[in-house]
Amino acid sequence: MPKRLLLIGATTGYQTRVFAEAAERLGYELVLATDRCHVLDDPWGDRAIPLRFEDPAGAAETIAAQARVDGIVAVGDRPAYIASLAAERLGLNYNSPESVAASRNKFLARERFRNAGLLVPEFRRMALNEETERAALESHYPCVLKPLGLSASRGVIRANDPAEFVTAFRRIEKLLADPDIARLHEDQDRYLQVESFIEGREFALEGLLTHGRLRVLSIFDKPDPLNGPFFEETIYVTPSREDPFTVRAIIQTTEAAVRALGLSHGPVHAEMRVNASGVWMLEVAARPIGGLCAKVLPGLEELILRNAAGVDAGDLAMPAPAAGVMMIPIPREGIYVTTDGLDAARAQPGIEDVIITAKQGQKLVPLPEGASYLGFIFARGETPDAVEAALRNAHERLDFEIAAALPVV
Ligand code: ADP
Repeated sequence: MPKRLLLIGATTGYQTRVFAEAAERLGYELVLATDRCHVLDDPWGDRAIPLRFEDPAGAAETIAAQARVDGIVAVGDRPAYIASLAAERLGLNYNSPESVAASRNKFLARERFRNAGLLVPEFRRMALNEETERAALESHYPCVLKPLGLSASRGVIRANDPAEFVTAFRRIEKLLADPDIARLHEDQDRYLQVESFIEGREFALEGLLTHGRLRVLSIFDKPDPLNGPFFEETIYVTPSREDPFTVRAIIQTTEAAVRALGLSHGPVHAEMRVNASGVWMLEVAARPIGGLCAKVLPGLEELILRNAAGVDAGDLAMPAPAAGVMMIPIPREGIYVTTDGLDAARAQPGIEDVIITAKQGQKLVPLPEGASYLGFIFARGETPDAVEAALRNAHERLDFEIAAALPVV
């Protein structure tokens, strides 16, 4: 019998398609469950189970009633939570709902990390209706204000003094009132968190959990300094150039963080900072690295699918010793017109691909409100230094035409 797996993800997601292709290569049957409109009758022709992501319990019930599968895979934070509820009902090997809930709530995660004895900054959860000016006067500086449940650095803002604190607070408050966020009625979106600023270099770890054991697939350096006021991810390069002692510490702290959250099975994407005091976890998400970035790790989807199906996952097949990606930042707000220099960028040594994901006429919103990039540059090479240089080189060749957005009257 071929393995049958359930994949929960957004219909429109690029990653959903990549997983479907990987399943086909493995000869697995893949049942999709997505948040597409359930009024239409199979508009995408993929026979996906329609879910309402804003109702995780109801979505899990729908899955349990319809899907007979050997394992479950989720793409995204919210799908991971729905997957955990469904797995519990179906008796499948997956993370517990409590562990996924803690991993996607920055306050609960900090509490768990602190209780487990990990390094944590000072942190405080504030309700949006709390008195901001007083909190600003009582806070220590520099600090970072952030929503509890968003990702990709959305709404994460550094404040160096009380005036910046109040401005940042109001900005996050406004962002959380955005209909797209407010529609989901998440309890965590009525709060934000204030944390002391952690100095240091930043890294990401891509891993796979099998019955609680962490397999490290890749550790990425983030060579661009992330000091705020906003924290735009740009370059990821693997393998890390840190000394073996630091790499070991990053892995051990991630293992401890995974235990503290209670995550047990499936992919994890962790982010951390390192300074003289040690490794500070920022977060461990119960999902793979987002969207197109996963292209840096060829075969990642197969590994995740095999692990979910309960068979030995195998290894990543890295075609070159070093690889990296640049998430192309949105330089300013406006309407995307075009990108010049694509051919020149693609022709740079070491460059594997340059993909512009912005669409002509699309409104570009930079951080902290925005949630997307202009596109992605991929590079491979003999060393991480060569890969980083190739990414910067290619980026310099690109020229983005962005028209001023017409004011809304
Ligand atoms: P998200 O889930 O949106 O990525 P994070 O909490 O991981 O939110 O924060 C995003 C980025 O903001 C981090 O990658 C880091 O660069 C920066 N950051 C967050 N919290 C802190 C902190 N306490 N000190 C320093 N930088 C921080």
